[in-house]
Parts: sequence; C-alpha cells; structure tokens
Amino acid sequence: MADIIRIAVDGPSGAGKSTIAKKVARAVGAEYVDTGAMYRAVGYKMRKLGAAPEDTDRIEAILNDTEIDFRSGVIYLDGEDVSGLIRTPEISEAASVYSALPPVRRKLVEIQRQIGHRRSVVMDGRDIGTNVFPDAQYKFYLTADAEERARRRWKELKEKGQDVELSQILQDIHQRDYADTHRELNPLMQAEDAELVDSTSMTIDEVVKTLVDKIQGGVSGRV
Ligand code: C5P
Repeated sequence: MADIIRIAVDGPSGAGKSTIAKKVARAVGAEYVDTGAMYRAVGYKMRKLGAAPEDTDRIEAILNDTEIDFRSGVIYLDGEDVSGLIRTPEISEAASVYSALPPVRRKLVEIQRQIGHRRSVVMDGRDIGTNVFPDAQYKFYLTADAEERARRRWKELKEKGQDVELSQILQDIHQRDYADTHRELNPLMQAEDAELVDSTSMTIDEVVKTLVDKIQGGVSGRV
C-alpha cells in the first residue's frame, strides 16, 4: 500500500488556496480537505443558534452535538450539505470570530487529524503546516497582495450573483488578515519549513504546476 502523504497549503484569505489545493489533490491522487469550510460551518451553526462567542459553556455544548464530515470534497454539517450556505461575507466574519475560540479549534483540529490519518490529503487552511500536521511531507505557504486577493474574491462573488463593493471586500480581507495573524491560538504564519509561493502575478495553472512539480519531484510514484 502506498504511504499516506500529507500536503499542507496555508496562507491568508483569498490567496487561491482552495482552487489550487483542489487541483493539486486531483493531480496527485489525494483527498482535498478545506479546513476553512469547517470553521465556516461552525460559524454558520453558532450564528444560526445565536450562541455568543463569549458563552463558552453553550459553545461547548453545541460542539458536542455537532458532526462535520467531508464526502467527495463536499462538507456536511450534521448530515446536511452546507457548501452553498457558508460562502457569504457574514459567514466569513463569523468563521473568523469563532475560529479564535479554543474549544472550536480543539474539535476541528481533531477531525482534521483523523481525516489525515486515514488517507493522503491536500489540506488547506491557516495552521496545517504549523499545528495540524507539523510533520506533513510537503508544506506550502500561498500568498498574494491584499488588493489582488480582494479583486479575486470580488470576481468570485460577482460570478455567483452577489453584489458586493470591492472596497468592502478589501477592508474585510485586511480585518481577517489581522485577526488570523494576531489570534492567540494557532495564528496564521508561515511554517519554517514551508515553501513560500506568491501568486500575485501567477496564473492558477502556474501555481498548481509549481506545487505538483515539487511534490512529484520528491515522492514520484508514492502517492
Ligand atoms: O479559508 P477560509 O476563508 O474559508 O476560512 C474562513 C476562516 O476560518 C478564516 O478567516 C480563519 O479565521 C478560519 N480558519 C482557521 N484555521 C484554518 C482555516 C480557516 O482559523 N485552518
């Protein structure tokens, strides 16, 4: 049986992590796991149930009664496919707030480790190379200028029919960058042994090729 390969793709919001990680996973035959979607699902549920971030007891009780699962790359919250409900600016904000809470991180990191122990994964997030899988065979830190990230997200939302101001998205990105890099627990940072890839002036395919070449150069035939 082939060894389990773990590939970590970390970086700030809107750097193209999910698009790229998904394509890399397909190219190397690994499962794609979007950890941001897991934090979004938790943010969605907490918001829906009106659980305030400071109400730790309630948050813990809800988490104990929460199931998050991926099937063929689709996220299920308590058995329901929530992929269409978690990509709004409100849920981005909620994910950022609730992801700073220790019980939320504890629960989701545990699920992420379970998934990565069962099969080869390309996992994208903020703390995969630093905290979830510090022993991942490949680690990439994917970034791009904030303005470029805002433009990409704006385009993405527009294509989905959501009319949001570009300036608002840029402001949200700055806020989330700040929150993600300054939170106490597992903040966003480049792992010492991660390869930095700045995609500001690269196409998606160029970035995918950079990662795949690196992985296949090192583990050819093992994944
Ligand atoms: O990647 P995405 O923008 O979907 O992530 C939503 C939010 O979830 C991020 O702003 C971040 O606060 C949080 N997150 C995290 N750790 C991860 C992945 C996402 O804290 N591994």
